[in-house]
Amino acid sequence: MRGRQTNQDQREKLLLAGRIAKEARDRGIMLSEPGVRVLDVVDQVEELIRKMGGQPAFPVNIGIDAVAAHYTPATGDSQRFPPRGILKFDVGVHVDGYIADTAASKDLGGSNNLLVSCSQSALEQAIETVKAGISLRYLGGVIERTIQSSGYRPVTNLMGHSIERYNLHAGFSVPNVSDISDGTVPDDIVIAIEPFATSGKGFVVSGRIGNIFSLVRRKKLDDASLNQFQEVIDERYSTLPFAERWLGEFGNRTHLLRKLLRLGILHGYQTLIEASGAPVSQWEHTLIVSREGVVATSK
Ligand code: MN
Ligand code: MN
Repeated sequence: MRGRQTNQDQREKLLLAGRIAKEARDRGIMLSEPGVRVLDVVDQVEELIRKMGGQPAFPVNIGIDAVAAHYTPATGDSQRFPPRGILKFDVGVHVDGYIADTAASKDLGGSNNLLVSCSQSALEQAIETVKAGISLRYLGGVIERTIQSSGYRPVTNLMGHSIERYNLHAGFSVPNVSDISDGTVPDDIVIAIEPFATSGKGFVVSGRIGNIFSLVRRKKLDDASLNQFQEVIDERYSTLPFAERWLGEFGNRTHLLRKLLRLGILHGYQTLIEASGAPVSQWEHTLIVSREGVVATSK
């Protein structure tokens, strides 16, 4: 499962996942307008991913204003996009476990918002700068200064990350500020870079569990329905994040999910919210970094 990411077959799957993720993200941003039902957009985008030959690598994440990450609608969610607000639309796609993770932001009911554009510029600057061997202090500094030059703050406790097969957060972090890590970007790695900018304090705190879960480890239990539920989750999603609404055929899924959470078999993702309640913007691309150069798969 682990190891070099860049043999030809693996590279083609990474590139295909990236192309699908780009389409899905752009469609999502286009469809997300004030008054439109959030769940309708999310359903359409996840359907598009499957139609194009991928699978969602995680449920579409919708973050509005201070909600920075880890929210997805539940079954039957009637929430609509508000008349005004900063939307983050974060999409993951995998092809045979090879993942692309990408996000964009949009100023609902407005246009040309500096908060939206400064994290986009920071991402573009970071992609120009990144290469195998570069210092994370330097790379993080580029992101930090780009955001600060527009008068905003980077979110310090949200970071980019390495990606491996069926592993969205594979252990290596790419900070959005200069003073978090002394490391360097390794050769032959897949990373997501994701600057977050805010007018608030510049860090996020955890909120409630937001309809997104992942399998930690299966356990044989004295309950056939719980065992079958674990098996379905394992076969469909492996350890990748999944949504409650993807398990619609289990009428008692809320109960099953709660039980498996309590037993530590599942992890529940808490929504991440800007500490002062201020709006947050985010842009993200997935990159293959090697001595031969950098390819942004989702661009
Ligand atoms: Mn990411
Ligand atoms: Mn993402």
